[in-house]
Amino acid sequence: MTLLKREEWQHFVRDVDWTFAYVDDEAVFPEWHSGTGKVPREAWLNWEEDYKVSYSEYVATQREKEGSAYAVKAALQRSRAWETLSEGWKSSTKMHFGGVTLVEYEATLAELKMARFGLNGAWRNVAAFGALDEIRHCQITLFFGHEFVGKDPQYDWTQKMFHTDDWVAVSLRNLFDGMMVTPNVVDLAIQLPLTFETGFTNLQFVALSADALESGDVNFANMISSIQTDEARHAQQGGPTLEILVEHDPIRAQWVIDKAFWGSARAFAALTGPAMDYYTPLEHRKQSYREFMEEWIIDQFIRTIEDYGLRKPWFWDEFMKGLDTWHHALHMGLWYWRPTLWWKPTAGVTRDERDWLREKYPNWETVYGDKWDVIIDNVNSGNMEATLPETLPWLCSMCHLPCCNATLGYDGRWRVRDYLLTHNGVTYHFCTAGCRQIWWKDRDNLNHPTVIDRFLAGEIQPMDVGGILGYMGLTPDVMGDDPDYGWAAEYKDRIVTPRVPVAGA
Ligand code: MN
Ligand code: MN
Repeated sequence: MTLLKREEWQHFVRDVDWTFAYVDDEAVFPEWHSGTGKVPREAWLNWEEDYKVSYSEYVATQREKEGSAYAVKAALQRSRAWETLSEGWKSSTKMHFGGVTLVEYEATLAELKMARFGLNGAWRNVAAFGALDEIRHCQITLFFGHEFVGKDPQYDWTQKMFHTDDWVAVSLRNLFDGMMVTPNVVDLAIQLPLTFETGFTNLQFVALSADALESGDVNFANMISSIQTDEARHAQQGGPTLEILVEHDPIRAQWVIDKAFWGSARAFAALTGPAMDYYTPLEHRKQSYREFMEEWIIDQFIRTIEDYGLRKPWFWDEFMKGLDTWHHALHMGLWYWRPTLWWKPTAGVTRDERDWLREKYPNWETVYGDKWDVIIDNVNSGNMEATLPETLPWLCSMCHLPCCNATLGYDGRWRVRDYLLTHNGVTYHFCTAGCRQIWWKDRDNLNHPTVIDRFLAGEIQPMDVGGILGYMGLTPDVMGDDPDYGWAAEYKDRIVTPRVPVAGA
């Protein structure tokens, strides 16, 4: 028997489609899932991916990847590598384990949706491999996190986090449900593979892997690099989908990209930003978060969308200015509300670290220095209650993150502004103009109530910090705390200027 050559069989096994005789096309591919919109049905016949993979090739490659990732893990398990890691770096990984593991599972559901409702056989084929990829990512991350549960109960949140109503879980569910679960597959392919996976995950999975190696965490670097090789393959669903959508409905294409970019940027500012600029030990930092964003996201993102004939998002100026403020403010908020975290946030503001922050962010001292000085004085005078929360910060109705972004006013002063909007008799508050605009355009979509909304509705009882922590699923053994307040000691000789209240201020 002669075997067919690869190029002789590949085109018809990867692109299987037929005409339905017993049901309408609309019954098989309903608009609310398939989402063709203004794109004519036959335009999807041109959908074509770059790398064409067969099932046997897929399985052989994945088997090899799994084999090497687990072999490295097994070798390291016998060493004392984990014991030598800094608390700051461990916190970066705990945040990743809890924040990412079940998002990988959610991505399985997203891939399966494209595998079923994508309007082209080749697309459905790639998405089926994508679903297998995402199951692997969820499993490998769960498994790697599980190893440490016996050493530190915070790692238990690798699996637990998304099953709680912790404010981080609520924020990430709102973002990822909107990106992966509620949209039709066309919007999904543009939000997840194109914007999030091509645009953003490189930062978390490649750039962070550089910090991991610098910090001596070979195991974690090995795990996330193994995952990223899959992302690079299934992310190719974004390009061909966008190409077809742009041709027939560029306004929709622009809006979907803009929305997904903004939501991703807010989440990265909350999590990746503090990990890079505060938790990673100073001597192991490769670049600042801003530099990483510029190198890995901004240049590439702008090039990608301009190649497709689209423009920079309308919020570009606000986003670029936010690179100097968002994650610094969120870091301070995370540190202050540290009992609500499943990691141990290091303050990261020793004198040397502050020099580095000032060098990377020229406005850092002006906007954040005096606030940290108040915290430092409280730590040094043993007034720890003043450094801990008594209630909740106001949360943005769009990104669910604290409204804490300082902006420079015309009077030359930095202030946190409230962006509000009244709709159907309810006043909503937002952290930025971008969040407010997206919420308005998307107001009929699913929006989870924020933890503040739930608190005010009486869903959280008793209405105090203890009740809030209980609602979020935090038990005393996992609540976050600064791992070592010793960092404040070097400021003991600081000359404290009494803070005199200014009339009218
Ligand atoms: Mn994944
Ligand atoms: Mn993925």
